[in-house]
Amino acid sequence: MTTATVRYFGRCPIKGCTTRRVVDGDTRMAVKIDDRWTLLNAYEYAGFTGERRRAFIASMRAHDLACGEHKAFLRWQPGRYSYNPDTACAPACEAATGPRCDCCCRGANHGGGHVVTLH
Ligand SMILES: [Zn+2]
Ligand SMILES: [Zn+2]
Repeated sequence: MTTATVRYFGRCPIKGCTTRRVVDGDTRMAVKIDDRWTLLNAYEYAGFTGERRRAFIASMRAHDLACGEHKAFLRWQPGRYSYNPDTACAPACEAATGPRCDCCCRGANHGGGHVVTLH
């Protein structure tokens, strides 16, 4: 079974913090960590407590998907791509850490330089 790849952009919720992460996940906002699909925003669900919560926190920290400075989970959102055929895809597109893309690549390159490799 194949699933579509969706690129997600995470930012630390603390005002002024510049921590950003980019990951490739699936349409459920899940990424594969340690061979298990993990929802990036799983902490938002009630009932996600005890051992599961601790395991989630440890795993997000271990893979550098949380803000180490603020010990905060990142807020994730999918890339938002508007297709502008007349705008060339510049290096800034691949170097982006935020979700908005306004060039001709339809998001294909957007944030590509920052995608975190997960195992
Ligand atoms: Zn932070
Ligand atoms: Zn582009």
